[in-house]
Amino acid sequence: MKPTDRTFSLPGVLERIDPETEPLPVVFDSPHSGNRYPSDFDYAVTRDQIRSTEDMHVDELFAAAPRHGATLLRALFPRSYIDLNRGPLDLDESLLAGPWPEPLLPGHKTRNGKGLLRSQAMGRPIYARKLEVAEVQARLNRYYEPYHATLAAIIAERRRDFGAVWHVNCHSWSPPDTGRDGKPVRHVDFFLGDREGTTADTEFTELVAGFLRNLGYEVLVNRLFKGMELVRRHGRPEEGQHSLQIEINREIYMDKHGYHKLDGFAEFRAHMEGLIRYVCEYARDAL
Ligand SMILES: [Zn+2]
Repeated sequence: MKPTDRTFSLPGVLERIDPETEPLPVVFDSPHSGNRYPSDFDYAVTRDQIRSTEDMHVDELFAAAPRHGATLLRALFPRSYIDLNRGPLDLDESLLAGPWPEPLLPGHKTRNGKGLLRSQAMGRPIYARKLEVAEVQARLNRYYEPYHATLAAIIAERRRDFGAVWHVNCHSWSPPDTGRDGKPVRHVDFFLGDREGTTADTEFTELVAGFLRNLGYEVLVNRLFKGMELVRRHGRPEEGQHSLQIEINREIYMDKHGYHKLDGFAEFRAHMEGLIRYVCEYARDAL
């Protein structure tokens, strides 16, 4: 992505790319595709192991958003450094060298090592040391909060100008080869999550699900990935502010072991551009 006057960036933290055409109240964000590893990360696994936690290529899949009137926000730092899709207190104290200054609220993802700070990558401990409280606070202040503040500002601007806004929070996941029962995992292409209709109008979620199903994809709604901090914090459907989480099965477009794009990448990216266009048309019609 070439920097332009429509691009605002905080180096190493985020990039905001505004519409090339007449703006519409649509925002796509890719919080987990960043791959610029901060020099103070000090992870103790290999580069390949740490990269397994990235939502690789997701920003590229949605790079066409500004061409259709939407704003695209993407994180540049990796989700393993600090995870934008967790609450700021969703933290495992055992990773820290000292006590956190306020009571923590570890959720179920943290108990599985996938909280604000990840504990493992490909089954290996990410850190060979405890993290200083001040170091984690610096990650919150320099990376996590600016991203959330930028997203909140984009959403507020669009809602101010149009009265409503649609935000699509974009992710990918890597299915395990087999489930807990040892059988192959049932094939699902997309999980959509609006936290049971609390972060987006059900009509909008169903519209996106219908679009993807028409392309032949298997789509489940509010199952397994129901939406986390980003849609929880920014989605308020009762105020016309809709946030939907979309999780894409990585096996559709990349090799999950070698990380390279599959031959069908361009075709799949065209499908995602179709989705972008569809959401933008929906927003235009709804105004
Ligand atoms: Zn993600």
